[in-house]
Amino acid sequence: MRAAVLQGPGKLSIEEVEIDRPKDHEVLVKIKATGVCHSDLHYFEGNLPSPNPCILGHEAAGIVEEVGPGVTAFKPGDHVIQLPMIFCGHCPRCVSGFPTLCMNPGASRRRDDEKPRTSFRGRKITPTADGGSFAEKVLSHENGFVRIPDDVALDRAALVGCGVITGAGAVLRTAEVKAGTTVAVFGCGGIGLSAIQAARLAGARKVIAVDVLENKLAAARRLGATDTVDASSADPVKEIRKLTGGGADYAFEAIGLVQTARQAFECTATRGTAVIIGAIAGSPEIPIPYGLLMGERRIMGSILGSTRFVIDAPNYIELYRQGRFNLDEMVTRHCRLDDLLEAFEMMKRGEVIRSVVLYD
Ligand SMILES: [Zn+2]
Ligand SMILES: [Zn+2]
Repeated sequence: MRAAVLQGPGKLSIEEVEIDRPKDHEVLVKIKATGVCHSDLHYFEGNLPSPNPCILGHEAAGIVEEVGPGVTAFKPGDHVIQLPMIFCGHCPRCVSGFPTLCMNPGASRRRDDEKPRTSFRGRKITPTADGGSFAEKVLSHENGFVRIPDDVALDRAALVGCGVITGAGAVLRTAEVKAGTTVAVFGCGGIGLSAIQAARLAGARKVIAVDVLENKLAAARRLGATDTVDASSADPVKEIRKLTGGGADYAFEAIGLVQTARQAFECTATRGTAVIIGAIAGSPEIPIPYGLLMGERRIMGSILGSTRFVIDAPNYIELYRQGRFNLDEMVTRHCRLDDLLEAFEMMKRGEVIRSVVLYD
């Protein structure tokens, strides 16, 4: 099959790779659509570490082609979303409702002494984020997929696999935003717009979107932002304090920058909560003013939106079918596997919310 193979930073090419057939508890899925996520760009540029060689892509939807022995949750023909990680389902964190913090994700990968699921020129090739969906097919553990209804467009459903669960989950699961509160969201890409939509669903009375691009602020207004701040011309902390009368109850950072992470904390109200969603390259320190911390403010991270995959992913699909969660507006462009470099360039220029790669 064809796949986008990364062999070191910047070295991306479409190659023919080998894929095995499903063994115990494995599922082979024909990929129909994969969103181009900012993490893919980070891997491509070497800002996030990745195995070499690896296959990028982790925000996918497709159709089950074959299942291995022991698989009961899926059958050929089922429509599925691929998850951006594989939880074990048995460890203390999984069973207490936090599969995104699974203590044993390796349990669902093949051992080194087994035949690799995918290989390139005789070498094992590793999928990033247990995905590897910039490829015509994916072979993975059954805990890496969630079934969805057959009538949902797969290019829309794909976004649920990473951007939606990450952004909306940060609001609904990590922070548990309450009705009547005020929310600020820094960054209006796929994750930020999902956070904005979830804040509206949660009943926030004010949802303030912050970005430096007018096209993204306009999308934020259409998807539920009550106010917008153009950070290229205004200080977002001052503006948010003004709009909320003292600070936001919750602030979400969906860009992945130290400066905006700090701003997210600084714009919160007394006893407010700042949630850092964006992946910050290089794991730097985030300076926090002590005086603000003493207002009983909190700052916390969010991994994949604290999502309970099996419950939450189909819920977002159902909300989409009811017209209460807009996925259509977030898919701004379709492309082919061969156009991936162009998709990265457009993402860097902020011209798209999501490019989605389609496969035949
Ligand atoms: Zn992602
Ligand atoms: Zn686990």
